[in-house]
This record gives sequence, structure tokens and C-alpha cells, in this order.
Amino acid sequence: MWEDSEPADDSQEELFQDRLIGHEWAAGLLQRSIDSRKLSHAYVFSGPNGIGKSFLAHHFVMALSCQNPPPKIEGQLGFRFCGECRACRMIREDKYPDVSVISLEWQARMESGPGSSSANANLKIDTIRAMQLEVSRAPLEAPRRVFIVEDAATMQIAAANAFLKTLEEPPARALIILICDSDRSLLPTIVSRCQVFDLRSVPTETIEKALETRGADQPTAHKLAALSVGRPGYALRAFYDKTHQDVDDRDEAIQEMETLLKADQAVRLAFSEELNTRWAGQGERRASVVTMLNLWLGWWRDLLLVYNGQGRYATNQDKLDTLQAQVDRLHLGQIKEMLQWLTRAQSELDSNLSPRLALGDLFVNHLPRL
Ligand SMILES: [Zn+2]
Repeated sequence: MWEDSEPADDSQEELFQDRLIGHEWAAGLLQRSIDSRKLSHAYVFSGPNGIGKSFLAHHFVMALSCQNPPPKIEGQLGFRFCGECRACRMIREDKYPDVSVISLEWQARMESGPGSSSANANLKIDTIRAMQLEVSRAPLEAPRRVFIVEDAATMQIAAANAFLKTLEEPPARALIILICDSDRSLLPTIVSRCQVFDLRSVPTETIEKALETRGADQPTAHKLAALSVGRPGYALRAFYDKTHQDVDDRDEAIQEMETLLKADQAVRLAFSEELNTRWAGQGERRASVVTMLNLWLGWWRDLLLVYNGQGRYATNQDKLDTLQAQVDRLHLGQIKEMLQWLTRAQSELDSNLSPRLALGDLFVNHLPRL
């Protein structure tokens, strides 16, 4: 009943109208440097996905550019901006002329067109040079031109060295914010020229309360806060996008996968038959097969991440113990093979093939036995 009920843009809008959850210390320090006119030329905002780095950056820029900031109240932490002036509104909508967001997505948009390359896993040197041209221009309205560099860790050495040049001779009225998971993924020579704000997990109770303030009922707030593992951005998105009901589907799918991994051939065949019946049922029952396959694919991707010691990037953050326990009993080859088979099964289901063909072989011949 949730599907298509709201366009995605609304939730994005809601996200940015929101108040910052947690990270008051960072907001307080940044606001103080605005007030005392002691801003750095460059900042690094680091921390896991969904922790609130971009959010902090946007609020920082609003506080910096607001045309009508509320008066300072002694003892009050956090950013001061009105949220309603032209600058605040346009920054929120990513339309302010003095704020540029550089990202892989932006790069892809710039490159799209005939003859464009599809390789967009890294911020390229041409992108950095395009940014540098802009950095040298004076701001149009705001006290400073701001460049928010998302995906900063994807810069390879040539791009990073080009970027370093800007930091070595920063134009007086430019401010650069680098966004990344960890400052260790940037060149040390870059980090040493920036003020680093490493955003830590926000307490679960803080997130739970924040969700309730936004209209979540207590059980939903509690569940999403726990699942977010300290990442308010994750919790808010799940709440506004109404994707939290997927959580129940996910728990069920993981349970089924765990059972199947331990089950013998007869049980696996029976399950494969059961999927055929669901698929034949059309409508919602058919959709449930696709959902389950997607969730499994996500699970096996997480297993690969945990295998490679990158568990902090896993989607199922609340299930790291289960993931680790499974990884301890799997070989890398088995994980990779399962990912291939699941991807193949997914594309076969996409072309409406029966899961008997797509999944039968997977269960009988490829799913490892734990
Ligand atoms: Zn304002």
C-alpha cells in the first residue's frame, strides 16, 4: 500500500528541512568559526554512509550564507540560519549559484552525450580542473563560494595531486568541503591542509526520539533506530521513503537463506517448488519472489564485503555478527559464485523465465552447504 504513494523528491525535500540529528559539537564549532570569521579554506567531513555528512555540509553552508540569521542565544549550540531567505531556500534545493556540489553523479551528467565514457567510478582530473576554474571566480552573492566534493575518496593519484594544488594556494573567498567515509582514504597531504570533522555514530536513543518527533510511532522509531546503527540519515530515509516495511521481508529472507544453507537436497528441492508456486501465483506472490531474490543478493554482497574486511560498508549493519559467522564457514570462491548465480537468476526472472529454470539449478548445484 506504500508503493508510489509519494514522489521521491518529497522525501528529499523533507530530509533537508529537517534539523540535524546529533553532531551538535560539530555544528557548534563550525558556527563559532563563522561568527568569529575564522573559517578554514578546506574541511573534511568523514564518517559512514548515512551518518549525516552531506546534511552537515548543507547546514554549514546555510549558516554561512543566510541573509537573515536568527540572533545568537547564549549557550545554544548548533547552526543559526533562517531556512526561509533566498540563500537558505536555494541551497536546500541545490540551486544556489555560490554553492557547487561535485560528485560522481555530477561528473556523469557533465560527460553524458555522444561519445561519453561510462567509467565513472572515480572523480577524474578533468572534473577537478573544471572545479578549479570555478574556484578561482569570485562569489556572486555569498561571502564565499563553496564547493562540496562528494565521493572525494574516489580521486586517484593524478586527480588528487591536481586537487592538492588548489589547497596549496586557496583563493581567499572559496571554501571546500570534502566528503568521504574516512580521512584515511585521502592523501595525507590533502588531509593536513583541511580541518577534519570525523562524524561518529549518533546514540540510538537520540535517533529514536528524533523519529518520534517526526511522527513515527514508538515501535517503528525503535526498530529503525536500532537498524540504523547510529546513522540518522539511514533512519530518516527509511522512515520518509516508507521502506521500513521491507525490514520484515528482509528478516524473513535472511531466515530462509540460513535455513537453506543448512538444509539437505530434499528440503532445497521442496523450497524451489514452493517458489515456483509463488511465481505462478502472479501479482503480489510473484513480486515476493523478486523481492526475496533482491534481498539475498544484498546479503551475499554483504558477505563479500565482510570477507574483505569492509563490513562497515555492508547494508545489513545490524546483522554483522550473522554475516561474520557465515563468512567464517565460506570460501571466497563460494561467495563469488553465489553472487554470479543470483545475478543470473535475477536477470532471468526479469525476463519472466520460471524460477524453476533460474533458481532450481542454484539450489541444487550451487548453494554451499554449511
Ligand atoms: Zn536564511
